[in-house]
Amino acid sequence: MEVRRTAPVKLVVPDEYHDDLHETAEQFRYCANEASDYCWDNTSYEDCITSNVPARNALYDRLREETSLTANLVQEAIRRAVHAVDSGVDRWKKGKRTNKPEFTSWSMVYDKRSATFYRNKISLSTVNGRIECDFELPADSPTPYEEYVLSEGYEFRTSTLQYDQATNEFYFHVKTRKVDGDGDAIEIEVSDDTGHQTVLGIDLGVNSLAVASTGTFWSGDKYDHWIREFEKRRAKMQQRGTQAAHNAVLRLGKRERAWRKQYIHTVANEMVSEAVAQDCDVIVFEELTDIRERLPHADWHHVWAFRRLIEYVEHKAPHRGVAVEQVEPAHTSQRCSRTDCGFTHEDNRDGEQFQCLKCGYEINADYNGAKNVGLRYMRKRQHSLRSSPTSGGADAPVDVRVTGGTLNGDGYRPIADS
Ligand SMILES: [Zn+2]
Repeated sequence: MEVRRTAPVKLVVPDEYHDDLHETAEQFRYCANEASDYCWDNTSYEDCITSNVPARNALYDRLREETSLTANLVQEAIRRAVHAVDSGVDRWKKGKRTNKPEFTSWSMVYDKRSATFYRNKISLSTVNGRIECDFELPADSPTPYEEYVLSEGYEFRTSTLQYDQATNEFYFHVKTRKVDGDGDAIEIEVSDDTGHQTVLGIDLGVNSLAVASTGTFWSGDKYDHWIREFEKRRAKMQQRGTQAAHNAVLRLGKRERAWRKQYIHTVANEMVSEAVAQDCDVIVFEELTDIRERLPHADWHHVWAFRRLIEYVEHKAPHRGVAVEQVEPAHTSQRCSRTDCGFTHEDNRDGEQFQCLKCGYEINADYNGAKNVGLRYMRKRQHSLRSSPTSGGADAPVDVRVTGGTLNGDGYRPIADS
């Protein structure tokens, strides 16, 4: 594994240069999307272009003509698209879901020629020539910048320039790699973890014990049935009032607890398998805060089941490479899960049926809830990626796995045929 470091640096960009950078980023995105369009082929991965040279030969002249970008920025945009197409083809070959890569975020790649470092400033290529910006370095030393960028042990590779709309600030994520005394990279590059996540949202309830955003239901009927059977038997025994009956009640309690745990283990296993089968990275539940108020029909054994289920899934999922997260509950059952709507009203829900009073969307109420749990996590994560300069996550979108496709901020996307 190669030793790589990413050092985020805040740039002090004079106001008069902001437009230059915005325009440069837009043209960069245009080039990357054009290249993705050219390299991707929906009919067969054999026809996708996954190496840089043929893509550059086909696209470079046209993109230079159509944009005001410098040669190196055009080349990096093409490289970014080829890399994303290559990752997509890898997934496709493994039978995983995949789509033509699309670039929507404010993010561009600078190489050694389009960005030049000085100790306290940087010079960047833009559509209007080069601009110089200062760094804002943290007070504590040594900073990552000094340690990794200016250090002779590390070699500057490429960097990603990102813009935080909320604060109107620019961040430069400097990628370096460790080199030995002769300036050779010690080891080769391994992975490109883009941080992309696919989410399985889970809604817990009484009608159905659990519903996944993929439309898989775990009915509560069997669970409720056996709980009632145990209660009946217990009541019968208690009526006898003998010591023998008392002992039998204790044994029954033990058996019931074992049965309940076994049942929830089975549901937890199936849920983790569902996440793995649907290629999800994260299973998301709602926090159980105020669950009794939110689900007035839930009794103690439902709440017990919810707690155990989350606990078991949290234990099992990491062994199969799946993370578990919880989000705050907020009108999951009342909000329309269509991403272009989101209308929230208590009258949207009528028992097991959800019908949006605004857009008319009709769907099973628990399934609607499961999608909303996934979407809440998606928004939360996107928000924290945007507000964190250290995440390097400009191209780390989140989508929610639903029946036949995925949902993200741009709406629904079917899974590409494979
Ligand atoms: Zn709606």
